Amino acid sequence: FSYPLPVNEPVLNYAPGSPEKLRQKKVLEELKKKEADIPMYIGGRAVRTGIRIAINPPHERAHVLGYFHQGDKKHVQQAIDAALKAKASWEAMSWENRAAIFLKAADLIATKYRPYLNGTTMLGQSKNIYQAEIDSACEIIDFLRFNVHFLSEIYKQQPISAPGIHNRLEWRPLEGFVLAITPFNFTAIGGNLPTSAAMCGNTVVWKPANTQVYSAQMFMKILMEAGLPDGVINLIYVDGPTLGEVCFQHRDFAGVHFTGSTGVFNQIWTTVGANINKYRTYPRIVGETGGKDFVLAHRSADPDVVATALARGAFEFQGQKCSAASRAYLPSNIADAVKRKLIAQIETMKMGSVEDFSNFINAVIDEKSYDKLKKYIDNAKKDRKAKILVGGNCDKRKGFFIEPTVIEVRDPKYVTMCEELFGPVLTIYTYDADQFEKALTLVDTTSDYALTGSIIAQDRAAVELAVNRLRNAAGNFYINDKPTGAVVGQQPFGGARASGTNDKAGSMLNLYRWLSARTIKETF
Ligand code: NAP
Repeated sequence: FSYPLPVNEPVLNYAPGSPEKLRQKKVLEELKKKEADIPMYIGGRAVRTGIRIAINPPHERAHVLGYFHQGDKKHVQQAIDAALKAKASWEAMSWENRAAIFLKAADLIATKYRPYLNGTTMLGQSKNIYQAEIDSACEIIDFLRFNVHFLSEIYKQQPISAPGIHNRLEWRPLEGFVLAITPFNFTAIGGNLPTSAAMCGNTVVWKPANTQVYSAQMFMKILMEAGLPDGVINLIYVDGPTLGEVCFQHRDFAGVHFTGSTGVFNQIWTTVGANINKYRTYPRIVGETGGKDFVLAHRSADPDVVATALARGAFEFQGQKCSAASRAYLPSNIADAVKRKLIAQIETMKMGSVEDFSNFINAVIDEKSYDKLKKYIDNAKKDRKAKILVGGNCDKRKGFFIEPTVIEVRDPKYVTMCEELFGPVLTIYTYDADQFEKALTLVDTTSDYALTGSIIAQDRAAVELAVNRLRNAAGNFYINDKPTGAVVGQQPFGGARASGTNDKAGSMLNLYRWLSARTIKETF
């Protein structure tokens, strides 16, 4: 079974008066009118615990979209049991039939549930329609279709044989269950992590972020409608420590596919290490974690290109992207021009509810995130070493709104140049335009992260120098572009250092981690 290279799902543009815009508006109204009661899904059964947690749109905190039922240790155990029970028949199912389920899910999203997955993402995670369309429509569909293609290519890979000897590789799933832990910021990551492992024949326990449940359950229902057998993916809502207490002690724990912060991933790794003697097999540990992503401009850069890379890279998606531009290095010869142009672009960004499609900036995810961002901004306001160039106002009366904010610093190691803030805050530092080599060293040594970064330059020698010198500073490196917006199948995504295990989501490399090959030699 060979599945040809798909084309990326086209992005709809939701222009005024377009049918997709009218349909999306209707679905938003429908979702807002009803109060959802959201169960966990364990072994194909809807499980309601009675412990109901409210879901509020981050941009309209007084509104209740519904409630999800929170589980405890017992439910984690039930999810593991269901995954292990489903394993034998799922693994034995022909690859063609497994693949068909995920391809059907992609088609269901493209043709039927697009406005619902977009709508739950818009309301639950406060993303405007353009952000939601890229995330919960196009990227999820791409993950499903491209992963089927990649896996069909992997399955074809076989060793050489010799006269009298027939060698084969059997691409088996891992032994045990796989745990998928997903973050709030991308519905598509929730779409990818459990399904990529499941596609390979694994069965999965999936725990989304609490703030992602609204869209995650929508995706789960689509998978079930597409024919996913009971127990192949089990969706549970429990807190992290409860999950870890059961899963990381379990003999059949086969691996974890995690996306989230570096701190949580470090805890997971430590716990798994401490329990290593309990497992049947060495678990696969795959983590896509934090970022402190840079834009480095060279003296030859076009100020317009730099300003646009910063405006889009830092503030689209409220800066809540692991790849968001959050530290910029501007050469002294063009710094003033870039700042002027950047401020002009920021002044056009409207902030408000996702229901008004003309808003560019929406709310950040929750109060914890809001308070953290506000603290960094307030500290910068008080600090003589920093200056707020634009923005800096925060307001949480209606929703968690933080203005797009640019902090200018004279110390290249100022705290907001080093730490991940995860919001619409960009810090810029101006370097002596004649000291490009020094700027390269600063970029490489200022942060522990190494996820994404850009060099903006018209001078090709400067581009080459940056590509070579920054080879460990970013897993995804962009030339004359913003450091965000990796597309499945086009730019395999992931970073190293404190940014993760660099197992490149959206490529074959990631799928290998969910397979455990057996070599079979037959002698005639
Ligand atoms: P987070 O707070 O680390 O949470 C991620 C997931 O881990 C959530 O499901 C969370 O559940 C769970 N969790 C928390 N504590 C846990 C524990 N002790 N054991 C097991 N699971 C636990 O991250 P987030 O705020 O959702 O997402 C933002 C972070 O993700 C940023 O650092 C961003 O850079 C990173 N990210 C990285 C990539 C990438 O590709 N490199 C992509 C997207 C996001 P609860 O919600 O219930 O706490």
